Amino acid sequence: MIDADVIIVGGGPAGATCAWKLQRQGIQPLILDKKSFPHRKICAGWITPCVFRNLGITKEEYPFGLLTFRRIIFHVSGLTIPIPTRQYSIRRYEFDTWLLQRAAVPVRNHHVKHIKKDGNRYIIDDMFRCTYLVGAGGTHCPVFRTFFDVIYPRSRNGLIVTMEEEIKYDNRDTTCRLWFFDRKFPGYSWYVPKADGYLNIGIGARFAVLKKRGDTIRDYWNDLIEKLINLSLVEDREWKPRGYNYYLRQPVGNGRLDNAFIIGDAAGPATTDMGEGIGPAVESGIRAADAIANGGDCSLRSIRQYSLISILFPWLT
Ligand SMILES: Cc1cc2nc3c(=O)[nH]c(=O)nc-3n(C[C@H](O)[C@H](O)[C@H](O)COP(=O)(O)OP(=O)(O)OC[C@H]3O[C@@H](n4cnc5c(N)ncnc54)[C@H](O)[C@@H]3O)c2cc1C
Repeated sequence: MIDADVIIVGGGPAGATCAWKLQRQGIQPLILDKKSFPHRKICAGWITPCVFRNLGITKEEYPFGLLTFRRIIFHVSGLTIPIPTRQYSIRRYEFDTWLLQRAAVPVRNHHVKHIKKDGNRYIIDDMFRCTYLVGAGGTHCPVFRTFFDVIYPRSRNGLIVTMEEEIKYDNRDTTCRLWFFDRKFPGYSWYVPKADGYLNIGIGARFAVLKKRGDTIRDYWNDLIEKLINLSLVEDREWKPRGYNYYLRQPVGNGRLDNAFIIGDAAGPATTDMGEGIGPAVESGIRAADAIANGGDCSLRSIRQYSLISILFPWLT
């Protein structure tokens, strides 16, 4: 049995940030992740200035490719609305690995399956034992499933289905573009250029609405590609998009139950309007670390619920 004071399940932005913050407070957690890093993560990789602030660095200090958007073009029901702002794009392949390395804590490659409580301690797969257990394993986090599902059942209305692809592409246009309500689409689609000639395009929608209409996300993906080709934003090629589901803001007020915690997508803090989850994952990771180091609840209620505010008024957030 491997003993640790704190075990974090999942080394994505939530888990890695929690580990980094704990380490700074003199506590060394062990991270268990089913994947080794670097790995490809399905995500557009748009982040707000607030993410760097919470990570305690300036954008200049980020050591990998970063693109700054001084404006984002919103296409809403056929109207084109350029919004001046200050937002960034990163590649998750690089960002997640950097966050984890920066945390400088031990990481074990392990797929967590079964968790039980034995007195005051948590036992993971009869192999690991800890006093504090942090669930940062994303949508299907086993810590959520084992301890939190009963008290915070997820609302199916908040389930988002997505499809995206990130390609190496000699960007003709480095403007970030978003499309809303095309064909009454219950979500939005994006064109997010990255540094070093990468491009992420994708689409996300509420599962419940698609199901009711008998539509699939794939139909809308095909529409998006057709539109981007017509706009000369991409060339025709063989597309191999991948899908992933996650939840928009869930009513998890306190991410702590005894000494177990849920953070990031495991808790469902992504913003209601745009599904922005990296910032909320980082913020919830910091709150869990503070609760472990100093005691108290892991309040997630006050994490920002809408992204539009930080796009329209980036200096305020
Ligand atoms: C298509 C798409 C586009 C998105 N675009 C954006 C965007 O542009 N901006 C934004 O802010 N957000 C975006 N999001 C949301 C964002 O990706 C997530 O909210 C964010 O990754 C959450 O971070 P996390 O650390 O909670 O979870 P994750 O990043 O999912 O990390 C979870 C980690 O846990 C590990 N894990 C899972 N299960 C286990 C297990 N059983 N045992 C051990 N390890 C396990 C995984 O390997 C992974 O490393 C997007 C999401 C999707 C699907």
